[in-house]
Order: sequence, then structure tokens, then C-alpha cells
Amino acid sequence: MDPLANEALAGWRGILLRLGQRRAVLGITALSIVVSVCVTVGVGFAVGNVDKLFSDIIIAVTVPLLVAPLVSHAAMGLLMEVEAARQSLHQLAIRDGLTNLYNRRFFMARLQTEVSRAQREGTPLSMVMVDVDHFKAINDQRGHAAGDDVLERLASVLIVGLRPYDMSARYGGEEFVAMLPGATLAEAEATAERLRLSIEQLRIPGFGNAGMPNVTASLGVSCLGPAPDDAASLLRRADQGMYAAKARGRNQCVSVATPGAAVRVAA
Ligand code: GH3
Ligand code: MG
Ligand code: MG
Repeated sequence: MDPLANEALAGWRGILLRLGQRRAVLGITALSIVVSVCVTVGVGFAVGNVDKLFSDIIIAVTVPLLVAPLVSHAAMGLLMEVEAARQSLHQLAIRDGLTNLYNRRFFMARLQTEVSRAQREGTPLSMVMVDVDHFKAINDQRGHAAGDDVLERLASVLIVGLRPYDMSARYGGEEFVAMLPGATLAEAEATAERLRLSIEQLRIPGFGNAGMPNVTASLGVSCLGPAPDDAASLLRRADQGMYAAKARGRNQCVSVATPGAAVRVAA
């Protein structure tokens, strides 16, 4: 489950929601009966009116038995509706409306956390920046709706092509970004190349002919170095790689060296 959803289910609301409506109603009813009986017995002994105690206990059992299920059922229903509304509001706040990927703001917040974790634990963290090639021409020639469709398909490539613990987001108009915790620069390069190929191999109706070539993208790759490297610089290097890929003719991946890392010598 999403860590944020987990956080949302913390506390007593979470306990009730996890229990489920039926078990929560049973639990609350049982608790009401036990409390009512204890209070009745306590008051009976305190007042010294032990003769009336038996009929009072009957009342103490029956009243909660009738009232508690109704009250707790209504309260649980309301709680579940509020929780569902809260969850969908939360999703609206963190996701991009068109592609349903995470939005840039949420991605940046999570990136800061992952950068701190990677530097503290000494594990790699890589970044891939993806920009659709000649997207303006797609919009101009096929219309904005076709452009939107391309963006949705590209988002699916990212979702399918990345590991569950990677995180992709819509970074801007036709720019996407993915962070790959635990991935070295070489692993991220391999991932980026796989994504590039999947994008190139998308068979979108109306594309892949003389008038309109297949959709392609240019990708930049970077990997976090030891401090003082940081999230902003990691993103900047991925961006530089992406622009270098554009300059070299598009539809390719370019990675940028990691500061503080040993220089790789080509075999
Ligand atoms: P390059 O290969 O250099 O990346 O060129 P490009 O045409 O892809 O880049 P450019 O920045 O010139 O154009 C990006 C276009 O993306 C311009 C903008 O109108 C369009 N765009 C931005 N957001 C959306 C969107 O949500 N839907 C659609 N359909 N188009 C969008
Ligand atoms: Mg762009
Ligand atoms: Mg572009």
C-alpha cells in the first residue's frame, strides 16, 4: 500500500476502517454492553439497591443491543464516506489529471526524501528525464486531443517499464521524469534505453507513416553522487542529458557523469 495511504489509516479511524463495518459494529455493541453492565452493577452496589439489580442488568444489556448497532453503523458509514472523499482529494492533489502519474510538486517532495535516504545509506539513486520529440508538430498536425493521447500512452510506457519502487511523474507539458532508487548510472542507462525503445515501438493509429513518423523521445540520465550533490543538481544533469540527446538528433539516451564518481573508461 502507498505509504501515504498507510499514514492516513493511522490512529483510531484507521483501526475502525481496517476492522470493517460489520466487525466494528459488533465490537462497539459488545463494548457498549460491557460498559453499561459494569456501570449498572457499580451503581446498584453503590446505592445499595441490590434487589433491583437483575432487572437493571436486563435493561443495561437490551438498550445498547438495540441502540449501539444503529449508531455505530451510521457513524461507520459516515467515517468511510469521509475517508473515501479525503483519499480522492489527496489523489487529486498529488496526481496529474491527464496521465494520472504523480505531479511535479509531489515528485519533488518525494525526491528530497529519497536523496537524503540514498546519501545517508550510501545507496545509488538515478534519474531519467524524458521529453517527447517534435511534440508541437504532433499537436499542430493531429490536433490537441491526439497530443493528449500520445501523452497518456507515454505515461503507460513508464508505468509498465519501471519497477514498482521506481517513481515516475509528469514533469511539465510533454516532459516526464523517473527516479530509480537503488539503480546505478549503468542500470539507469539500460532502463532509459528500454523505455526509449518501448516508446519508439508504440503503434499509435495515425502515426508511423510518411506524413507522421512514430512517436519518439529523447532521454537524459543521471545518478546521485555523494554530498554536496543534491536533488536540484541531479535533475539538472538529467535535463542536460536530455538536451544533449536532442542536439545529437533525438530518439536517443544520453547520460551525464556523476560528480565524485570514478570516470568510466570505455572498453
Ligand atoms: P523537441 O523535439 O525539441 O522537444 O520539440 P517539441 O515540439 O516537442 O517541444 P516544444 O517545447 O516546442 O513543444 C512542446 C509542446 O507541448 C508545446 C505545447 O503546446 C505542448 N503541450 C504542453 N502540454 C500539453 C498537453 O497537456 N497536451 C497537449 N496536447 N500538448 C501540450
Ligand atoms: Mg519539452
Ligand atoms: Mg519535446
